[in-house]
Amino acid sequence: MSPRMRLLNPGPVSLTERVRQALTLPDLCHREEDFAVMQREVRAGLESVYTGAERHSAVMLTGSGTAAVEAMVGSLVQRSGRALVVANGVYGERMAAMLDAQGKQFEIVRSDWKKDLDLGVAERALSTGAFTHVLTVHHETTTGRLNDVAGLGALCVRYETPLLLDAVSSFGGELIELEKWNIEALAATANKCLHGVPGVSFVLARREALERPSGATSVYLDLARHWKEQRSGWSPFTQSVQCVYALREALAELRDEGGWSARHDRYAARMASVRAELAELGVKHFLDDGESRSSVILNAFVQPENVSYPVLHDRLKEKGFVIYAGQGPYQGKMFRIAVMGDLSERDITELRTALREVITVASKTV
Ligand SMILES: *Cc1c(COP(=O)(O)O)cnc(C)c1O
Repeated sequence: MSPRMRLLNPGPVSLTERVRQALTLPDLCHREEDFAVMQREVRAGLESVYTGAERHSAVMLTGSGTAAVEAMVGSLVQRSGRALVVANGVYGERMAAMLDAQGKQFEIVRSDWKKDLDLGVAERALSTGAFTHVLTVHHETTTGRLNDVAGLGALCVRYETPLLLDAVSSFGGELIELEKWNIEALAATANKCLHGVPGVSFVLARREALERPSGATSVYLDLARHWKEQRSGWSPFTQSVQCVYALREALAELRDEGGWSARHDRYAARMASVRAELAELGVKHFLDDGESRSSVILNAFVQPENVSYPVLHDRLKEKGFVIYAGQGPYQGKMFRIAVMGDLSERDITELRTALREVITVASKTV
């Protein structure tokens, strides 16, 4: 018999029973009034996860987090625009790839993926006044780094350039300051820190930006079109009804549990416990500046020399835990652990035991 799978990958997350039950609600057509009512409720819920979103409206999309990022970048950067991408990982590179695919002008400021955003170079670029938008990633899931978006946001304010933020893996679990960081829009998803099911993603955008002529080079991913219909409750295309049921329940659960900051604290406690266990086992944190710059959501650790990633993954999976591999240049060199979703204190204790068993047993067999 296989044990309950506890997902420690960066989404989708292990569901609570409450959210899972919401998937079995009655069948519903997305063009009925009942759906319009639910969609308004869910959009209002998304707009109230953080304070300070008075100027922003939520637009929901059927698709994974990438769909929301691509809709945001495609629609809000106009065809005549020029974007500055500030990147230090896979997801920053992906935003640049989207601009490239859309045939838009952009420049990219790269830093070493183990370091923070290069604000010095970004400032020099912004001071030329040549850019209509700045694009970056809040929590770079590649390494678990929580980027200095406060610092970049301050530059966006100083140079009056709006920020488009990939907040897919931080929304609901880390602090986001919409006005202070000059966030014109952010993109996120149902199935990471919000604990919903995969299939719905969304953009929170300033209404004035949604009302400008759309830069969309795609029919489906045109935010302005979705926004126009969703304001009156409708939707241009089929919505993932069951996923919306689940998201509504997940948002209610988030509120009942004390909102994003209480969730942040819970993740922080889980992650501190995981870090402590791995430190005891001699497993090093992957980031040079270590734990202080990591999110509480996901951390990356150096792959121990005496156990390969596939062995670590498979042994942990036998014990009911799914961890995540390093991407790109980090494949085989690191592993990642995320602590979102329905995890009890007991799950974390069992995870610590499992890590100890797998890592020390592997060391002994060398
Ligand atoms: C998960 C994630 C995405 C979107 O990934 P999907 O697989 O499309 O949901 C985008 N950006 C970041 C930072 C992510 O962690």
